[in-house]
Amino acid sequence: MTVHADPQAGQAVKAADRAHVFHSWSAQGLIDPLAVAGAEGSYFWDYDGNRYLDFSSQLVNTNIGHQHPKVVAAIQEQAGRLCTIAPGFAVDVRAEAARLVAERTPGDLDKIFFTNGGAEAVENAVRMARLHTGRPKVMSAYRSYHGATSTAINLTGDPRRWASDSAAAGVVHFWGPFLYRSSFHAETEAQECERALAHLEQTIAFEGPQTIAAIILETIVGTAGVLVPPPGYLAGVREICDKYGIVFILDEVMAGFGRTGTWFAADLFDVTPDLLTFAKGVNSGYVPLGGVAISAKIAADFETKPYPGGLTYSGHPLACASAVATINAMAEEGIVENAARIGEDVLGPGLRDLAERHPSVGEVRGMGVFWALDLVRNKETREPLVPYNAAGEANAPMAEFAAACKKRGLWPFVNMNRTHVVPACTIGEAEAKDGLAALDAALAVADAHC
Ligand code: PMP
Repeated sequence: MTVHADPQAGQAVKAADRAHVFHSWSAQGLIDPLAVAGAEGSYFWDYDGNRYLDFSSQLVNTNIGHQHPKVVAAIQEQAGRLCTIAPGFAVDVRAEAARLVAERTPGDLDKIFFTNGGAEAVENAVRMARLHTGRPKVMSAYRSYHGATSTAINLTGDPRRWASDSAAAGVVHFWGPFLYRSSFHAETEAQECERALAHLEQTIAFEGPQTIAAIILETIVGTAGVLVPPPGYLAGVREICDKYGIVFILDEVMAGFGRTGTWFAADLFDVTPDLLTFAKGVNSGYVPLGGVAISAKIAADFETKPYPGGLTYSGHPLACASAVATINAMAEEGIVENAARIGEDVLGPGLRDLAERHPSVGEVRGMGVFWALDLVRNKETREPLVPYNAAGEANAPMAEFAAACKKRGLWPFVNMNRTHVVPACTIGEAEAKDGLAALDAALAVADAHC
């Protein structure tokens, strides 16, 4: 890994970016994006010669790490052979990518509709559920993220939807389980599970089960805090869906493809949804790709009637070639097993140790390479380190914490009062320990606000 410093080139990149690139989720005049010169494995670097251990995986995406040589070679090989072809044709890499995904998804989710990313996967899963049931409404949890397109942002249960809320007809939110900040005054996981399921069923009763097409849940809630559901919750939702003829959609855009130390988070809970959305880890985002894995029952619905939806780039050959190479490399190199082992042996114990020693760490949640630290002002009251949806001065403690991580060569994934620990599934033990040491030092900045 060669990191050259070339600050002048970095300035030029930044100036060009600021002139013409309109950035996501940002007030354009208030941002100062880092100019990135290159990346490899668990690291990326800037033009000033600073190297960062990537504890964000670029929006929890590069499960296989940066620039995996087999994936890069597969993209290059495919580009030389066939760059693009419309979705209506049968193509070797598209069929192979679909087979490899279908083989790994749970149960009978054996047909794959490809999209360009997660939000489009959610949009299409919802459309399939509505067409399948003939019902209008879709239910989702308040603490969730499902994407930033029209329906997906409205299903999303975090405050970022407010600004773009078009009040999409038929979206109904409910509270999912989260014992640490229980909406149900529960004291045990069993209580939380039971009360969350009762709340869901009551919401369905008041909405009218005959009006509800689907319930969509992240198997493990990602962006909104790495919330691992209590044992029995997802099985309970599955039962409720079966009882009322509701389509169960699990959104594994973030949790899928190794992040939890299993191919899919659903494997951990022994539950099979009717539709499963994926993106990110399917090819580590080397070329945009997402999709919906479809159960035999729903696929059968579209055997004789057409599915009224499609995308020009659906199953793009470059994306599919990178997915085939990614999935094969993950299997050959034991990358999913590595994520599980790093979680169990290094990150889990290391993060719990940080929680014991730092007054600002209220709770540690997660598994594999999918963790969050819930930062608080006070461990007793669990008051978050920054208020909900804080911005500007109110968010200063988290901004200072993030800056302290970066100063120590660690790129964190910071969201509201949490720092998520989401490195590549390929991360080595020594790298993970380096990251923990940097976090340990940076948490002193958060502790100062307790
Ligand atoms: N669903 C989940 C669970 C996600 O985490 C995300 C992205 N963070 C999305 C959907 C949307 O994916 P995309 O940004 O690729 O549209």
